[in-house]
Amino acid sequence: MIERFILPFSEKDFEKEYDLIIVGSGIAGLISAYYAPENFKIALFSKDRLEESNTYYAQGGIAVALNPEDSPELHYKDTLSAGADFNEEKIVKIVVQEGIERVKDLIKLGVNFDKIDGLAFTKEAAHSKRRIIHAQGDATGYEVARTLINIVKDRKNTNIYEHYVLIDLLTYEDEVYGGVFFDTKERKIRIFTSKYIILATGGAGQLYLHTTNPLTATGDGIAIAFRAGARIMDLEFFQFHPTSLDVASPQRFLISEAVRGEGAYLLNAFGERFMLNYHPLAELAPRDVVTRAIFFEMLETQDRIYLDLRPIGEKKIKERFPNIYKKCMEHGIDITKELVPVSPAAHYFMGGIETDEYGRTNLKNLYACGETACTGLHGANRLASNSLLEGLVFGKRCIDAILNEDPAKNHSIPKHQNNLLNISLNEVNQGIKILKKILWDKVGIIRNETELKDAENIIDNLIEKLHNSFILDRSFVELKNMLLISKFMINSALIRKESRGAHFRIDYPKSKEEWKKHIIWEREKEVIFCEVNSLPSFKKNC
Ligand SMILES: Cc1cc2nc3c(=O)[nH]c(=O)nc-3n(C[C@H](O)[C@H](O)[C@H](O)COP(=O)(O)OP(=O)(O)OC[C@H]3O[C@@H](n4cnc5c(N)ncnc54)[C@H](O)[C@@H]3O)c2cc1C
Repeated sequence: MIERFILPFSEKDFEKEYDLIIVGSGIAGLISAYYAPENFKIALFSKDRLEESNTYYAQGGIAVALNPEDSPELHYKDTLSAGADFNEEKIVKIVVQEGIERVKDLIKLGVNFDKIDGLAFTKEAAHSKRRIIHAQGDATGYEVARTLINIVKDRKNTNIYEHYVLIDLLTYEDEVYGGVFFDTKERKIRIFTSKYIILATGGAGQLYLHTTNPLTATGDGIAIAFRAGARIMDLEFFQFHPTSLDVASPQRFLISEAVRGEGAYLLNAFGERFMLNYHPLAELAPRDVVTRAIFFEMLETQDRIYLDLRPIGEKKIKERFPNIYKKCMEHGIDITKELVPVSPAAHYFMGGIETDEYGRTNLKNLYACGETACTGLHGANRLASNSLLEGLVFGKRCIDAILNEDPAKNHSIPKHQNNLLNISLNEVNQGIKILKKILWDKVGIIRNETELKDAENIIDNLIEKLHNSFILDRSFVELKNMLLISKFMINSALIRKESRGAHFRIDYPKSKEEWKKHIIWEREKEVIFCEVNSLPSFKKNC
């Protein structure tokens, strides 16, 4: 039922050959482009404007053990404890240590982190130390993306393709040698071949009705890699951020965790600080705990939940959170004086394309880094502000690996036709609407077998309806990709009969030792299990 290719193409669509194709203009893709050798001919693709990425919207900052009171060992411990005993320890060690050098590189490149007598560090949930560095108060992602985009735009060896959607990868046996793209401006299919390909296509928040992610975050890289034969993993773990601004929007505005780090409280409709009843760390408990507490509190009170930033003080709010202040003002809420209505929203995908410690996948010449990859760093629940760091570390490591590996050979471009039938845009949009609502209602913060099975049926029906049909449009590609991911996400959530981190089954509310294993999928294979701390599965005969 999962097609190898989703749109028709042929040899006549061939455009150009490169040494390296990077798909994605978030932190992971941009930093790979920066570290790539100058003698490489490089193409960097993004499906929208270069700026439209999760990276651009990141607020809180980057977790890095640079504070004299801190250490990589403490950062390591905090990452493991937030990750619910499910992190790949080797990967965590690499990130907390190498992350320090990568952040120093960012500073040298001109990223202007905020300073108070040296770098300013803030605290976020589940961090034992003040270790989050930030820029422009609460616009860290903007500052990082802006700096890196300017650098990459100046590189003579790099061609930039905006508004190009990667649809599928070309493979010969288990070697990847090119990509089929949809040029959304000219509405044409274009094929590029390359010696190496890095997928840095980001997250998948748009799977859900409520999300903090931009419209580009539809998990494309994960689905594309799977269709080409790559392994995908940990799809049952999707992080819901506890505090998005509770105002309907296709991309919910995030109220950063850093506000709680600086002293904001969560209140229920009766003005009670309910988090004190849920966890000793109260508002600074791990994200999954706070999200579930809000969910249950909303159910019990049948009312909204609020953030109270007033304990931070007006002056500090305006200095530290200028972006949040401005955005809330646009919605008529003065956060220095009023309570802010908040609710959980899909935020970060822990699952993704399985990669080793150098971003290598099980396919030759295909690498993945950033949110689209799954290294096992985050375990079952990402520690706040660890993902920009992950993008930095593995963006560089992909390049390190490429420099030591043989390039893909030249292969001819196949033709794909397959009796494809036309469907309407209206049907596609309807499909997207249904998918997002089903995932939010049945595969969300609290799960159970009955709802998961319902969701499975609905998603399978949608997959069947779209089988062998097509319309040349970005939304069609996104729907196909989101359906594929939903299918394996639901299957994984059904298989994992326990609760761990962000995956909470009300019918199996406890974690179980025997479930310390990853659930992995590869096309035309049965489900694969691999013990935690023994990845990558493809090198271990899992
Ligand atoms: C509101 C918000 C706040 C956040 N705050 C923080 C924070 O403070 N600290 C932190 O560490 N993390 C934070 N995160 C998470 C973090 O921003 C992301 O995990 C990280 O930026 C991901 O980077 P990336 O490079 O992997 O992907 P992204 O930055 O999402 O970039 C993905 C790129 O891939 C492109 N793309 C996708 N599909 C295709 C396709 N088919 N063809 C071509 N191009 C494609 C997109 O156009 C985009 O350019 C936040 C996330 C959000 C949404």
